Amino acid sequence: MTPSIIAIDGPVASGKTSIGGRLADELGYLFFDTGVMYRAVTYLALRYLGSAQDAAAVAELAARAHIDVRAPTVADGRDSTVVAVVAAPDGVTPVEEDITWAIRGGEVEGSVSLVAAIGAVRQTLTEQMRRVGRRGRVVMVGRDVGTVILPEADLKVFLTASVETRAQRRYEEILARGEDRNYKDILTNLRERDRIDTSRAIAPLRAAADAVTLDTSDLSIDEVLAAIHDLVAVR
Ligand code: C5P
Repeated sequence: MTPSIIAIDGPVASGKTSIGGRLADELGYLFFDTGVMYRAVTYLALRYLGSAQDAAAVAELAARAHIDVRAPTVADGRDSTVVAVVAAPDGVTPVEEDITWAIRGGEVEGSVSLVAAIGAVRQTLTEQMRRVGRRGRVVMVGRDVGTVILPEADLKVFLTASVETRAQRRYEEILARGEDRNYKDILTNLRERDRIDTSRAIAPLRAAADAVTLDTSDLSIDEVLAAIHDLVAVR
């Protein structure tokens, strides 16, 4: 039987999002990129709190925020539209904001791993992700999908690649969007995010015991997809 819940985890720029998105399309499943949720909360913290330093305030904001991923609303190269709705604590009408590109910026990338290390933020977001994942027919990608969010997943894949390969991929993606960031900064940011993601106390980045690990350093997206389709076929 085709696995209904597919978990793909791995470090920054290991190919999770491109591969997970295509796999979901090909299977007719929902694609859920859990990193978007952490990025969105980080963006909101920077916007409404000025920084992501105050863990309790960030957690409170995460609980008040509603993050929605919709079909693209603008033809500017996006593959989805990410909208945040924040309920104001004073009861004022909630503000809805298109944060699709803002969550991809360097400012968010500089703080997202810190936000993702806050236990209360993880708890709130993990519950939301679980609710969607448990409906099935889903490809969910992230850091702890197979270990924490959906340990019952029918197929777990862990993607890896060398840090230099991943930094190069991220650099090319950013260039293709017409933005200007330098390779060394990206490499430094990746190393730092890897360090925080793998060493945090709660839900650190690691492969589940029953995950299949694929090193994508020397593989094209098509080759990785073919390998995952083979795994889907034998489940
Ligand atoms: O996958 P992406 O790079 O968009 O994720 C952004 C950040 O969100 C990661 O560096 C990690 O700190 C955090 N994250 C997480 N758990 C997930 C997905 C993302 O901690 N399931």
